[in-house]
Amino acid sequence: MTSTISRLSALLHSGIISSVELTRLYIAEIEKQNGTLNAYVHKTYDEAIANARAADKLLKEGCTSPLCGIPMTLKDNIATDGMETTCCSKILRGYRPIYDATVWTKLKAHGAVLLGKTNMDEFAMGSTSETSVYGRPKNPRDLTKVTGGSSGGGAAAVCAHIAGYAIGSDTGGSIRQPSSFCGVVGFKPTYGAVSRYGLIAYGSSLDQIGPLTTSVSDAALVYDAIKGIDPMDMTSTDVSMEPTSLESGAKGLRIGIAKEFFEGLSPEMTAVIYGAARKYQEAGAEIIELSVPSLKAALPVYYIIACAEASSNLGRYDGIRYGFRAANYSSVDDMVIKTRTEGFGREVQKRIMLGTYVLSSGYMDAYYKKACLLRERIQAEMNGVFEKCDVLFAPTVPVTAFQEGYSGGNAIETYLSDVCTVPVNIAGLPGISIPAGKINGMPAGLQIIGNRFCDAKVLQTAYIAERDAFFDVEDVEGGVRL
Ligand code: GLN
Repeated sequence: MTSTISRLSALLHSGIISSVELTRLYIAEIEKQNGTLNAYVHKTYDEAIANARAADKLLKEGCTSPLCGIPMTLKDNIATDGMETTCCSKILRGYRPIYDATVWTKLKAHGAVLLGKTNMDEFAMGSTSETSVYGRPKNPRDLTKVTGGSSGGGAAAVCAHIAGYAIGSDTGGSIRQPSSFCGVVGFKPTYGAVSRYGLIAYGSSLDQIGPLTTSVSDAALVYDAIKGIDPMDMTSTDVSMEPTSLESGAKGLRIGIAKEFFEGLSPEMTAVIYGAARKYQEAGAEIIELSVPSLKAALPVYYIIACAEASSNLGRYDGIRYGFRAANYSSVDDMVIKTRTEGFGREVQKRIMLGTYVLSSGYMDAYYKKACLLRERIQAEMNGVFEKCDVLFAPTVPVTAFQEGYSGGNAIETYLSDVCTVPVNIAGLPGISIPAGKINGMPAGLQIIGNRFCDAKVLQTAYIAERDAFFDVEDVEGGVRL
């Protein structure tokens, strides 16, 4: 795990390269690689050059932000004023928001340079990015494999070094899972630590924005720039605005291992995660084996709540207010029906129907309300866990990257593979995925989970592995390397 941001930032701040020059290098690399990788779905080169000019001016004026002048990407579900934002869905084709998401406003103030919007599963629903209307992005480590999802384009761009870092969103694993599949770092902060204003909603009580980077120290730098309470997002929370201090030791660190994360796990993945825990133990950490029985309910709870919220959130796409409208219709009702039938892909339609079903009278008590009660149970048990340990170690995903097309015939297995990431969203916790090894040549992520608002603890714990080089997952060749 080598830092991209710190390295580039040193070059920019010392004047060895200008942001405009660096941005041109990235643009040239995107032009070279994106035809194959399909990581970017909208390129914003004019914006990038304008941002880079502004960054060069800021640098001259003595701007100290490590992000100043660094080219990066936003997932295609993050609103950018005047620039196409489509959630990789036909129904939002041509939609240009008239405002910026708070994360982009904040990053712009730091001198960030937007290269483009990255590929994703339609409306962030999926684990492969294959439901994108623009076709799937490819995993730079093996082009026949998926990137994971839903922030798959961002993970591919960071992995291939055609973006300095990426901003993604995570409702049930969408930052951490593609990071594990592509061998990069993905951090989902505590729910509420980063404003969701301008993030096109999927499951509002679960959604969270966070960074995908080549290193833990980069993730902390981006997190520090985007965190904080926002009057535009009522669910955002006051968090410490101090820069995250990464230095800490493994000595005395209490690492919890919950047996439920390992039931039915392959011997290879078990070896990667236990091997990682052993490294920390050798450095002085304590391993605490424990049990969180309600984790068994996490997957159904997640899919009921996420679909219920999605069915409500996606009600606004009616052919009147946004993007696409069906060409032929006989009445307003007919127009709405045809627009939604033609505009949404099959996976999105499936989830809207499921969500509507679990909220319908007669079934609400049996499904939605029960899921909410179980969610409280999971939250309570997780609170108990963090009285016994500082962080939990788990696999990010039970498997490595799927073969392309796998989810087409194995939808259930694909949903099941979210089992280790969704509990973190259900309980609103911070979680990070870092590359901790390889299985059959493909990267496998270690997930480190912390208590609510203990984002610094999660980053510090992950940083120990980076600083002391616990794991050796090499970078892919190519891309912008300075
Ligand atoms: N794979 C999960 C889903 O399909 C998570 C997606 C996400 O985090 N946006 O819902």
